[in-house]
Amino acid sequence: MYWSASFALRVDQAGRQSVWLDLAVDVSLEQICQRCLQPVTVAVHAESAFRFVASEAVAEQEDDDCEEDLLVTSRTFDLAALIEDEVLLELPLVPRHEVCPVPVKTTIADPEFDQADGKPNPFAALAALKGR
Ligand SMILES: [Zn+2]
Repeated sequence: MYWSASFALRVDQAGRQSVWLDLAVDVSLEQICQRCLQPVTVAVHAESAFRFVASEAVAEQEDDDCEEDLLVTSRTFDLAALIEDEVLLELPLVPRHEVCPVPVKTTIADPEFDQADGKPNPFAALAALKGR
């Protein structure tokens, strides 16, 4: 795992100074592939910029008007928790191998195949029932 956090003092267009945090995280996490159910290593890269504001009230007020994420200045700022949140946000919802190491059974039905097989198309069968 690699991560970097750097704090910088920046001045906005209105001339106000604020503290920014630039965060970058690269981590490889072991997940379970949702296709073959084998372990898969997922590489996660997260990069975000945060601006510190004085209070929760200011954060609520400014949150809609700015593109960056806001953090409330606090004595107990938890960088580890922030990094964890960022990584969780970037994790794929459905982790999968690009190519699974084991053969995967597919259960995707091909309607044309079914028809060629001589079996009635379920939708055609339904339509026939309705027509009665
Ligand atoms: Zn897989």
